[in-house]
Amino acid sequence: MTTPAATEHRSAAILSIGDELTLGQKLDTNARWLSQQLVDLGISIIEHVTVPDDLDAHAAALARLAPRCDLIISSGGLGPTADDLTRQALAIAARDTLVHDADGERQIRAWFAARARSLAPINLTQARRPSRGSLLENKHGTAPGLFSTIESASHRCDVFCLPGPPREMMPMFDASVRPALRPPEGRVIHTRVLHSVGLGESDLAQRLGPLMDRSNVPLIGTTASGGIVSIRIRYEGEAPRERARALVDAAAEKVMQLAGDYVFADGHDSLASVVLRTLKERGQSIAVVESCTGGTLAEELTAIPGSSASMLGGWITYSNQMKQTQVGVPTELFAQGAPGAVSREVARAMARGGRDRSGASIALSITGIAGPDGGTPTKPVGTVWISLAHASGSDTRRFSMAGDRASIRAWSCTAALAMAWQHLAGRSHPLLRQLEAHAE
Ligand code: ATP
Repeated sequence: MTTPAATEHRSAAILSIGDELTLGQKLDTNARWLSQQLVDLGISIIEHVTVPDDLDAHAAALARLAPRCDLIISSGGLGPTADDLTRQALAIAARDTLVHDADGERQIRAWFAARARSLAPINLTQARRPSRGSLLENKHGTAPGLFSTIESASHRCDVFCLPGPPREMMPMFDASVRPALRPPEGRVIHTRVLHSVGLGESDLAQRLGPLMDRSNVPLIGTTASGGIVSIRIRYEGEAPRERARALVDAAAEKVMQLAGDYVFADGHDSLASVVLRTLKERGQSIAVVESCTGGTLAEELTAIPGSSASMLGGWITYSNQMKQTQVGVPTELFAQGAPGAVSREVARAMARGGRDRSGASIALSITGIAGPDGGTPTKPVGTVWISLAHASGSDTRRFSMAGDRASIRAWSCTAALAMAWQHLAGRSHPLLRQLEAHAE
């Protein structure tokens, strides 16, 4: 199972295969991960292509991409069933025939034997490979990967076909693809990502002004997702690695001068991880009291490894009764003519009650109308009150969230975490979709 030395890999395409991807049933995380690995090595990505389990479409994609790049990495379609067509598609595009690989068969048999599983004859189709290609060992599943080339008189494209499941694809890339790659000498791609919250994408672009010109080196661009706007800084060129890093850092410094108040993280951090890390560094803790988000804020916090160092726990107080009995919201706040469950007073009482009862340094509460029903003229769907209780008082804000139930709930969690981050970082600017700020 060898991978012949390749020509220089300056450019690459990522090909993802599977009906589940084109039908929108599964998110293509392989393409993202593979791109990150190649870009880190200085290899430019020319295209991401996704095709269904269809032999013609698959072979046509390979044939179209191969003359345009030095490397194609595909994932999926290596299983033993009729809809797994990667072997045939590669053979067609490489104008080759499939042969049986005896070493591959031995490995597949050994994989089944080691797990005391019986081998069906169909599994041996996975030992087939293009005659001029080779198999790549799979230590985490039954499907070996494939290596072959698609060549013309003047161009050669190396093709690596990896299995679809990420837990098989990633180790195979590291073991069999990475060592065979020949990134261009001296070519450097260096990236940095800053994450901001509180400004819309266009407001941020306005602040950054000419920094975002498409002719700049490094290039600065933004992407918005779920209330977070990420600022991507990217150098691609021939400069020495240290110089590339310095250019990107200098651009990041300029971004911080213009929008630093809104930047909460650099790199892979999320709002939840930044909040938890800051609390941990200070020996502090957090608790949550949730109504319309039904536990998703606690889920976001506890999804971070090591969260137990500062996340104490929380309550889902969905009913008025639970708000009273669990965190001590005064009964009179729910009486006729009183502010009611979705109000500044109740949000504040929830956060204060949660902080008092848990002993946490800070407590967040969320109460709102996620819809689609339950809105009124004064409290339309999307009205959400969020409160942060801390040692010297509380900060309670009203938000007007747009979108459906899922996005209102998701954005409520982001806004709550953003309030916690602002408090810990000593910032106080209004957050996106916030109608009024109120600190007591
Ligand atoms: P298997 O031997 O498991 O059948 P395979 O190479 O044939 O491997 P597929 O059948 O295409 O792979 O996909 C198997 C599973 O891997 C899919 O159900 C999906 O969960 C996951 N998967 C496939 N492609 C991707 C992708 N691009 N991103 C994330 N997950 C993927």
